[in-house]
Amino acid sequence: MPGQENIFADADGFSSASDFVYLLQDYCKKFDLPVIENSRVLSVEYVSGSKYFSVCVSENGSAKYYLSKQVVIASGGQNIKNIPFFAKKISEEVLQLHACEYRNISLLPEGAVLIVGSAQSGVQIAEDLIESGRKVFISTSQVARVPRRYRGKDIVDWFMLTGFNEVRTTDVADHQILTMKQPQASGVGVRGHTVSLQSLARKGVVILGKIETADPAKVLIQPNAAFHVKFANEFSGKMKGMIDEYIQRLGLQAPPAEKDIDDQPDETAACASSVTILNLKENNITSIIWTTGFIVDFSYLKLPAFNENGMLRHSDGISDIEGLYFLGLPWLRKRKSGIILGIREDARFIAEKLIAKSGN
Ligand SMILES: Cc1cc2nc3c(=O)[nH]c(=O)nc-3n(C[C@H](O)[C@H](O)[C@H](O)COP(=O)(O)OP(=O)(O)OC[C@H]3O[C@@H](n4cnc5c(N)ncnc54)[C@H](O)[C@@H]3O)c2cc1C
Repeated sequence: MPGQENIFADADGFSSASDFVYLLQDYCKKFDLPVIENSRVLSVEYVSGSKYFSVCVSENGSAKYYLSKQVVIASGGQNIKNIPFFAKKISEEVLQLHACEYRNISLLPEGAVLIVGSAQSGVQIAEDLIESGRKVFISTSQVARVPRRYRGKDIVDWFMLTGFNEVRTTDVADHQILTMKQPQASGVGVRGHTVSLQSLARKGVVILGKIETADPAKVLIQPNAAFHVKFANEFSGKMKGMIDEYIQRLGLQAPPAEKDIDDQPDETAACASSVTILNLKENNITSIIWTTGFIVDFSYLKLPAFNENGMLRHSDGISDIEGLYFLGLPWLRKRKSGIILGIREDARFIAEKLIAKSGN
């Protein structure tokens, strides 16, 4: 972040969640940032007949009102668990958790585990559980994969160098790209590692298609696991092709591709299961973990800031409501906007707008 340089002893390493929290706390301290903790914004609304927003905040339990001409909404894009409606139909004998509630195997009763969702959280939890000795089933969907390292660098370094992360939202013609999940990869281990559906299958995980619905005793599954395996393979191939082309175009010195068995395509999708009905009891499934992502909560925003589909109306984080801005959302301005890497640039962009306007 601005003002922070070389803060990690190992710049290519992965920080733990608690290390990252300490880092933010230190940052607030170092720059004496006026953070008010334990404060929930209950509403942001117009003050009729004025240019001010009224912001109602519950601060340590007592309500306070602030008046402001400018408000930046940075309350995150992933606030509420996203769990399919049919989860409610499943027998109460089966423990159900969302990814944000999972910590480790000790939370789960004895027995097999069904993980629903094969993006980053799903594949990482599946790996954690299979390596802890559990029987694991994973229900997949169309999710990309990337090799963790390629030709001497972490994939995120390549995404920064090649300009992949810099793609502007306004330049994306294919709407599907804007809703793609974060690709399968793991940060476990000193430099992290690749994780693929075929690598999970090699460890014993059963690779299922997407769940269509459920009843108390079973889940019904679409026969598309093979398609999901092939989709991930193709995406990884495309990313490697993009990096090779970049290296060649710039005449860079880069080592050849590492041997990475976990990234090796399963051309025939032999690892995919064709099971379409999974009986929970017969398979001794005692817990289900929903790694089906999050949705956003803007219920406190009592302003006409949304379009007819309930999506925020904004351009580069600037609302068409005067004085209202957004930060920290996927594809706010660029591909990198939804990850920590993108915040610095977006925050500077919005801060410049705020300063210019407050001078008026
Ligand atoms: C499972 C998961 C893994 C991720 N892994 C990575 C990763 O490895 N690398 C990476 O770069 N990015 C990762 N991300 C994305 C990263 O978390 C986000 O880019 C980043 O957190 C966005 O920061 P933010 O401050 O905008 O929002 P958030 O971190 O979501 O912070 C929003 C804050 O606003 C608060 N808030 C919400 N509503 C209110 C309200 N009404 N009143 C007051 N406060 C409110 C919330 O409590 C929260 O503290 C991951 C995200 C998820 C969900």
